[in-house]
Amino acid sequence: MEQRIGVFVCHCGSNIAGTVDVKRVADALAKHPGVAYSTDYTYMCSDPGQSLVKEAIAEHGLTGVIVAACSPTLHEATFRRAGTVAGLNQYRVEIANIREQCSWVHQGEKEEATRKAIRVIKSMVEKVKLDESLEPISVPMTHRALVVGGGVAGIQAALDIANAGHDVVLVERSPSVGGHMAQLSETFPTLDCSQCILTPKMVEVSQHPRIKLLTYCEIDDVSGYVGNFKVKIRKKSAYVDRDVCTGCGLCTEKCPAKTDSEFEEGLAKRKAIYTPFPQAVPNKPVLDAEHCLYFQTGKCGICQKICPVDAVDYEMVDEIIEEEVGAIVVATGYDLYPIANLGEFGAGKYPDVVTSLQFERLLSASGPTGGEVRRPSDGEIPKEVVFLTCVGSRDPENHLPYCSKVCCMYLTKHAMLYKHKVHDGQAYYFYIDVRTGGKGYEEFYQRAAEEDDVLYIRGRISKIFEEDGKLTVWGVDTLTGSKIEIAADMVVLGLATVPNPAAAELANKLRIHTDEWGFLTEAHPKLRPVESLAPGFYLAGAAQGPKDIPEAVSQASGAASKVAALFAEEEYHREPVIAWINEDTCAGCRVCVSVCPYDAAEFDDEKKVARIQEAICEGCGACIAACPSGSAQQRNLTDEQIYKMVTATLED
Ligand code: FAD
Repeated sequence: MEQRIGVFVCHCGSNIAGTVDVKRVADALAKHPGVAYSTDYTYMCSDPGQSLVKEAIAEHGLTGVIVAACSPTLHEATFRRAGTVAGLNQYRVEIANIREQCSWVHQGEKEEATRKAIRVIKSMVEKVKLDESLEPISVPMTHRALVVGGGVAGIQAALDIANAGHDVVLVERSPSVGGHMAQLSETFPTLDCSQCILTPKMVEVSQHPRIKLLTYCEIDDVSGYVGNFKVKIRKKSAYVDRDVCTGCGLCTEKCPAKTDSEFEEGLAKRKAIYTPFPQAVPNKPVLDAEHCLYFQTGKCGICQKICPVDAVDYEMVDEIIEEEVGAIVVATGYDLYPIANLGEFGAGKYPDVVTSLQFERLLSASGPTGGEVRRPSDGEIPKEVVFLTCVGSRDPENHLPYCSKVCCMYLTKHAMLYKHKVHDGQAYYFYIDVRTGGKGYEEFYQRAAEEDDVLYIRGRISKIFEEDGKLTVWGVDTLTGSKIEIAADMVVLGLATVPNPAAAELANKLRIHTDEWGFLTEAHPKLRPVESLAPGFYLAGAAQGPKDIPEAVSQASGAASKVAALFAEEEYHREPVIAWINEDTCAGCRVCVSVCPYDAAEFDDEKKVARIQEAICEGCGACIAACPSGSAQQRNLTDEQIYKMVTATLED
């Protein structure tokens, strides 16, 4: 077919024309083989500019178009639409970037910039000559979402997606939804009771007609791709038929076996058959075989005998549930940095050196002390309490380099609430610097310092040890340079926030990326913060990085709106500019399979060749660069096209 290419050189006001001689560029291109029409215009993206393109396509019978203008990220879609309206296949409309990659970087070098612009455009002309007419790939889609993790972020995402009219499967691995927020006493900066704002949402998520809530379940396997995931969910054996159970609590009451309560962070005991906390959703028990006398000794069996509805079943085994979904939101949350790593603070050695979540439980009205701040060692009310920020965080030499973001605020809350409860107590707050970025956060901190007399000391702690029934805290005030020694009754560690330990394993199963610390990686830190690089996966809450509740909730709503936007279409449409494998030359070495970051390249065992799954490929080109036989090629960016583009660039 004879190629008749149109070239449209944009002035972009003076952005391009101030540096590049646009008339000379248009004239030079008019003489290039295959170019049937070449012109320049002040603003190509404007309505008259787009009309110029449309009219020229019709008038000159153009088979391809180059708009020499700004970056394709800005206006590629605009000009593709204009081309389509004029009857040209949209994939035969290309952008030559002569602004960001030419005029802006060569200001004051008019001659060189002009020559470069000519070369850049000529190379795109050579590309367009070999561009295929392509159509977007359409993939059927299941309009149903999976949300993994039932903390506040997962709950919010599930509710928003369900309220947008789509079915949701919400999978939580513990016996109840709620996550860490359910453990909190009151929440900064407004001091609302955490349970009061969270429990209505927990109930709502369990009763929503569009949400299937699966607690005490974990993801076993995920296959498929955006729009068409197949998920295997392991329903862990609770040894209680939770559909039959009425939640009367008799089994828990009579169970003779006790162990540390995870919900109470080890500050109280729970039974072997238990509901994690009184407001748990669902409010039905699970049996922990590891601590159950029947499972460990063969004796007991009280819970089974006493259950009025025969819900206890010692023979119960794990069950695999299969679900089909089109999108997956991952909201697996955070954990605290393991206390065992912090020997220098006496953590794990002295009972009155507590973690921040333990202190939350001591402050909570539903906690082990009914909301009274009492020392774990002897139940006494502590009169001198030291609060330490950055324990494990911002310490690249010994622990983690990053800021855990929420500790400055929650320790301020802790110190403030302690003072509200123990009026004659003294709260010492050690900080590197107090970070209070957030609405009302700075005012909250000022209130703690000015109205509640929390003593803020800029400094670090070197050692904590027990002496005469007190915790001796050694530190330095880095503002005055003086040494500090405090005889404290209790020390609260603002431990670093780390990703859930199992998050990396789950991310592996889901084929999504994590950063070096194990937090889930977003597709773009600024422009695509709630999406994973892998299509169809969305991120919510502290699984992506340390976050407070407002941030976790807004990110969850953001992820939910992305899912709703995906589901707004009947089918999933994606760019066809992706990789393909020439089966005739493929040697079956599988290098492409190993380098593909999206798992889009797969091996066909029968034909012994590799294949690209069109619905998954993102067109990144990794397989093409790696393929030793050149069998992997990118549509509309083949080796031949690249060769011609480079050749055109080198010609003057
Ligand atoms: P999480 O609460 O961690 O929930 C994650 C959920 O996912 C959990 O239920 C978990 O069991 C589940 N899960 C994990 N892995 C899997 C899996 N593989 N499969 C299925 N389910 C899984 N923020 C405030 O705004 N105000 C405060 O006052 C405040 N106080 C705080 C006090 C302390 C001591 C701490 C440590 C944090 C505090 N925060 C506060 C921060 C707050 O806890 C978080 O912002 C919030 O809990 C994040 O919610 P999330 O849903 O992202 O994570």
